[in-house]
Formats: sequence, C-alpha cells, structure tokens
Amino acid sequence: MLRMAIQPRYTGRATFARLPELQDEPCAAGIIGVPFDQGASFRPGQRFGPAAIREASRLIRPVHPVTGVDVFAAGSVRDCGDAPIGNDIMSSIEVIRAYIAAHVARGIRPVLLGGDHTVSLPALRAIAQAHGRLGVIHLDAHSDTEDALFGSRYNHGTPFRRAIEEGLVDPARMIQIGLRGSLSDAGEWDAARGLGLELIPMHEAQRHTMAELAQTALRRAGSGPVYISVDVDACDPAFAPGTGVPEAGGFSSRELVEMLRGVRGVRAVGGDVVEVLPAADPSGITALLAANIAYELLALVSAA
Ligand code: MN
Ligand code: MN
Repeated sequence: MLRMAIQPRYTGRATFARLPELQDEPCAAGIIGVPFDQGASFRPGQRFGPAAIREASRLIRPVHPVTGVDVFAAGSVRDCGDAPIGNDIMSSIEVIRAYIAAHVARGIRPVLLGGDHTVSLPALRAIAQAHGRLGVIHLDAHSDTEDALFGSRYNHGTPFRRAIEEGLVDPARMIQIGLRGSLSDAGEWDAARGLGLELIPMHEAQRHTMAELAQTALRRAGSGPVYISVDVDACDPAFAPGTGVPEAGGFSSRELVEMLRGVRGVRAVGGDVVEVLPAADPSGITALLAANIAYELLALVSAA
C-alpha cells in the first residue's frame, strides 16, 4: 500500500486501478476479469479485454469527482484476478459461474471485465443464487435476447433470454437502453418486449437527457437487487471502436458516464463492462472508457 502511495501510477503490475489483489481479508466489492470470447459471433478477441482494461486503468484514482467519496475505501475494494476459462462454451460458463459464486459467497459484489457478453449469464447465475431474482439495467446497441445464433443457444447474442428463462432476472425490473443498428428480423425488438422487458432504442433515447434516462432506469429497476451490464458498443464507434459488433450513432463516453452516475442509489449487487476488443482499439480509447465504466460500477456497488 505504501508503494502505491509513493510510486507513480505507471509503475508496478497492472491490477485494476493498481488495487491490491484479494487475499483473505474482508472485501465489499471486487474486479473479476473474464477473458472469454468463445461466444463472439462476429469479430473475436475480447479474451484480451481484461488485460487491456487493467492496463488502461492505471490512472484511475480513488476519489469520485462528483460524490467526493473514496470509492476504494468504502468497505474495501480488491482486484480478484481472472476467472478460469474452459475448453468450450458450456464448460467455460460453468467455471466462470463457480469463480464468481465463490467471491459472492464471501460478500463481494463483483464488477466483471469482459470478455464477450456471454459472461453476463454465469454472473447472473452466481449473483441471483445469493440475492434472488435481479433487476437489470442493460446499456447496449443490441438486445442480446436472441433464442439462438447460428444454431447455438449460448453465446453473446442470447445471455439475457437464457437468464429470463432460468428465472434469474425479473423482466418487469429490466430495461435495455441504446439499442440501434439494422436488425436481422423485423420482430426482434418486439420479441424482447414480449419477454416483458422495457426497451429504449437509441432513436427514442436521443430525445431525452441522460438524467431522464437514468430516472427511467431507476424507476424500472425498483428497490430490489440490480445487476448493471454495460456493453461498450452502447457508445458510438467514434468513442469505442474496439468492439466486436460496432453500430453507428451511439452514446458519447461522456453521456454513458453521466447516465451511470445518474442511477446512484440503485441497489447494485454486481455489474459488468463487456465486449472490449483490443485488436480493434489501437489507441486504447475503448479500454480507457471501459476502465472508467468499471470505476463507476464499483462506485455504485460499493455504495449500495
Ligand atoms: Mn452489443
Ligand atoms: Mn451485448
């Protein structure tokens, strides 16, 4: 800890925000890397996301600029390392779930660094087991509620349908914001609404302030436990080019951060930032954005 205080932030190993690695101490919230991309349907390489986000997070400092809260002193916050990965999608989902569940059982509220969006499913399984059915605030260009992609039912296009089917998520407390881009099927969004979800596509979201969208999300999520899932493709490719399925016309990074700050007070029991693809992120701006999103998520889960 002393070394952290007296040495510049470019030194040492790149844990998230240079946080200590988890040992046996009590811990309220923690970062878990999930270097998994076997569920990517278009451009893969999100397995390298956690390392890129950790490297980009060196400059994340403890005190939140809006609340004045030392995010890392609230309880305690640690870097909990990377979840293990199996040799196929199904075994990976199970070992990822078990790793997250072991941390949740210690009272740790996890913030995941993806990885493709498949990783939300094992996270929701682990967290719902401890907290019961979850509300979800889901920021994404895509609904990720397909039944199957190319014959596969477990990939980054399906995690939220599976989670609803498994009873992990209460669709009446779930909202998706920022959906856009061309669709495979004219009924795609209606199918998501048919699951009971509220959708705010980008062409509607852009008529509202970020504070209004945050209030809508808060109302929808209610007073129960909530998971917050942020696909970096919610942001415009101008701000987040390093992702697998980019869609033009998204939020700016400032808007996305403002929306996350706007849901302060939500009972956040976990969250993720997913779909960072370092190979398509030569300047590192997507990883930098993801590091800042993860910091905002830590602020939310450690305050809840
Ligand atoms: Mn997406
Ligand atoms: Mn997604």
